Amino acid sequence: MTVPARTVPADIGVLAVIVVRDGELPAGADETVAEAGGAALVLGSGSREAAGLLDAASRVWLLERSSVAPGALAAALAPIVADVPIVLLPASPDGRDLAPRLAVVLGRALVAGAVRCAPEEVELTRLDDHLSVRVAVDTPLVVTLRPGFRGAPEQVTLAEVTALTAPEDTPGHDAESIEVLQPEPSTVDLGEARRILGGGAGLVAAGADGAAVMRLLAQVAEALAASAGATRVVTDAGWMSYDRQIGTTGVAVNPELYLAFGISGAAQHVGGLGAPEHVVSVNTDPSCPMTLMAELGIVADAPAVLAELAERLGVTEAPSAQAEAPAASGIASGASHAG
Ligand SMILES: Cc1cc2nc3c(=O)[nH]c(=O)nc-3n(C[C@H](O)[C@H](O)[C@H](O)COP(=O)(O)OP(=O)(O)OC[C@H]3O[C@@H](n4cnc5c(N)ncnc54)[C@H](O)[C@@H]3O)c2cc1C
Repeated sequence: MTVPARTVPADIGVLAVIVVRDGELPAGADETVAEAGGAALVLGSGSREAAGLLDAASRVWLLERSSVAPGALAAALAPIVADVPIVLLPASPDGRDLAPRLAVVLGRALVAGAVRCAPEEVELTRLDDHLSVRVAVDTPLVVTLRPGFRGAPEQVTLAEVTALTAPEDTPGHDAESIEVLQPEPSTVDLGEARRILGGGAGLVAAGADGAAVMRLLAQVAEALAASAGATRVVTDAGWMSYDRQIGTTGVAVNPELYLAFGISGAAQHVGGLGAPEHVVSVNTDPSCPMTLMAELGIVADAPAVLAELAERLGVTEAPSAQAEAPAASGIASGASHAG
């Protein structure tokens, strides 16, 4: 039963605050709720519908609002969460907008871009995620959590939903959303990508230019409104940059569709794959783990299948390493290795 209330109870140590628009969850919402132990305050438009999409929530508070202007949201939220020691937001666009404003209104420090958050310790990374920094928590904080690090949570039973009320906003200066632009699939953070084409060692034939093959994979991905990812064999060879590596030592992803080209499906790779709704594996080995977990296994030469796809999609030639902007595409340039 929904009971109107004005604050969350004092026994909540970490509370996930999820800003939603039109009933849609932002990237990293479920991971954030799981990290908060299941306690979630969902606010924005379509808050009840969005809360229903959370797998990890066991206790939910709803604050329905037509506008998610961050200044007014911070002012409305502050009295509600004032007694919660750690307020945790996903580092989504709305989460990143709200978190610093909320920290100022609450008079707390902000720890931005964490990868783990426990009541007594927050973990950050530095040096391209090669260095882990653990910060002891001894004062109330606002923390943002980077999507894609924690991985998809287990489904829990939602036990309690409470509707919150907040006083009317007082008019004042605030940020205003004019338009929401969807990210380019080719440059979006891999952790947020809905469709991914993954390249493995089997996509690079002996003697082929691995970097050029991966650029072609990225172009085909772009033509399919998807992102390109890779295995560690590919990133270690310098054919694709490390931010595109999927796996336990790479990015944790959770796409709807994963199309794997020449990927064996090693535990360290699929450990970062989340739970894609659809997996397609192109591999010459019908019994490799990637094909066994696939909904559709295509037993064929992966470079030939990619070339055929490229032709059918009108992707005729991979640009040269010089013509490519590696920072924008995430695809390494200049390396040439035998497969
Ligand atoms: C501590 C540690 C951490 C690791 N972290 C990660 C990680 O984060 N991410 C990651 O990906 N790996 C990671 N690895 C490496 C992982 O164990 C595997 O070695 C790697 O994932 C294998 O990559 P692959 O599938 O591209 O290559 P391979 O295992 O060599 O597989 C190549 C596949 O291509 C197929 N093939 C060959 N020729 C063709 C062809 N012509 N057409 C179609 N298919 C073909 C083969 O049948 C095979 O299935 C880690 C390893 C360790 C030890």
